[in-house]
Amino acid sequence: MSPLASYDEAVDHVVERVRGGQKTFCVALTPEKSQRAHRDDELKQIIQSAEIQICDGVGVAIAARVLHGRKVARVTGVELFTKLLIRAEAEDLAVFLLGASPESNAGACEEIGQMCPRLRIVGSQHGYFEDAATVVEAINASGADMLFVAMGSPRQEKWIARHRDKLAVPFRMGVGGSFDVLSGAATRAPRLFRRTGTEFLYRFVKEPKRWRRELYALAFCARVFRAKVFG
Ligand code: UDP
Repeated sequence: MSPLASYDEAVDHVVERVRGGQKTFCVALTPEKSQRAHRDDELKQIIQSAEIQICDGVGVAIAARVLHGRKVARVTGVELFTKLLIRAEAEDLAVFLLGASPESNAGACEEIGQMCPRLRIVGSQHGYFEDAATVVEAINASGADMLFVAMGSPRQEKWIARHRDKLAVPFRMGVGGSFDVLSGAATRAPRLFRRTGTEFLYRFVKEPKRWRRELYALAFCARVFRAKVFG
């Protein structure tokens, strides 16, 4: 995992790479994603080859501590996304927002426009398109410096990775359900859950049909436990 000690360090690092024209893929690691990658070679390769990996889930931070004795700061995807938007506005960097339903995408653009009135949103596109090549062309034509893809995981990571060479935009990051949260189509867990890293409990109670995701997280915990005990 990239040694990013704080949000400030992560934002500085991203902006430096964007300014240097270095293509950068930022992946937010959660227990669920790590567990999926254990059984999905494509996803595993995508995560391993990403230039920046942030420790999104508290379970990943615990695993790094337990297995490698490393203290890794938690840098969540949704907060980094917000901080990057604020910094992009200050630095006059342009963003492209891809993903979510047409309503949610439009709502997120509007909300971001209110939050960062001088931010250049040079393009947006909902996540239910047919022709990926046209979308890649639109992103390239927009001249965006940062691309945020909200198409759920691992769909968004795979989409970015499959088009990585054709995409001209230097910075790419998957932001999951963030556009739904920004547009008001979904709510974030209350602060208590966020501070204690237990958003998954809140989500599970609100959307029990997502139980499969929690199974991945449980399997991740079991794998960490096995690795610790049996080496
Ligand atoms: N989404 C999308 N394109 C798709 C499927 C999903 O843009 O083909 C969007 C969806 O509208 C939502 C976001 O991806 O805004 C997250 O979707 P989901 O809840 O399925 O993913 P998760 O948050 O569970 O990773």
